Amino acid sequence: MEYITSRGFELPTDQHKMENFDWFNMWSNKNFPYHELLLGDTLYWFDTTAQKLVWKTEVVKVDRFPYSDKQEIFDRYPNSLGLKYYDSRPDSGYFVGYKIKVIEKINRDKPTGFRFPQLGWLRVDNEISQKWFNRNPIEDINILDDNISADDKTISEQLAFLNLKMQNVSPERIDKLVSMTIRKDTKIINALKKSADFKCQFPDCGQQIKKKGGGFYVEVAHVKSVSTGGQSVLGNLIVLCPNHHKEFDYGELSISEQTTDNLSGLLNGRQFEIKLTR
Ligand SMILES: [Zn+2]
Repeated sequence: MEYITSRGFELPTDQHKMENFDWFNMWSNKNFPYHELLLGDTLYWFDTTAQKLVWKTEVVKVDRFPYSDKQEIFDRYPNSLGLKYYDSRPDSGYFVGYKIKVIEKINRDKPTGFRFPQLGWLRVDNEISQKWFNRNPIEDINILDDNISADDKTISEQLAFLNLKMQNVSPERIDKLVSMTIRKDTKIINALKKSADFKCQFPDCGQQIKKKGGGFYVEVAHVKSVSTGGQSVLGNLIVLCPNHHKEFDYGELSISEQTTDNLSGLLNGRQFEIKLTR
């Protein structure tokens, strides 16, 4: 993950100072990103005095724990801002400390009209990406249509290939770019319909709707919905007739097992087990 973190003071201009510092936050609650921050995450540092991002760094150590003694933290993390900062923190709460390695020194202005959240942490999502880094998220998901040559692959090879590609499309991107994604996952969806013979995969259904112009109509449902982070990958896609699709979406559904081959659980009180691919 990538984050922007803001500091209300002048950040070191020296790489070694940045890297030797014991960086941390102390909060009375488990504020974001107390749980979320991980080794390998990218941190961009915003200097409020300069109103610029000044460092791009990588998290190389994370330490988090509840505390009830500030002095103890000060003793353990001497290379920090000093007692004055500790004094300003709550007497007890949650400590998250981190060490960073500099990736590069940068000099990037804050986008106009942007207001930093009070706690000074931002996750770099698509919107932040575009606002702060002028990155076009669409480029990141431009991965399917160009790469596949349908002719020289069997359906199951195509499915495996498309599945691999779709795994790189994060749920968050999909969520933000639903209309874009619908276009982008057409191929895996069509391949899946074909592999299911355009028949509903729900046990004992097998419904097939013949179209007047030829071919068959069938739908593909996301087991975990796109809006809750489900991806268009094997194991999360199921070929269903319109009735079973709606029952999946609106019925009482609990999944007991979900793999790329198998899906089983309870739908409106009925046990089901579905072979997803063959
Ligand atoms: Zn059905």
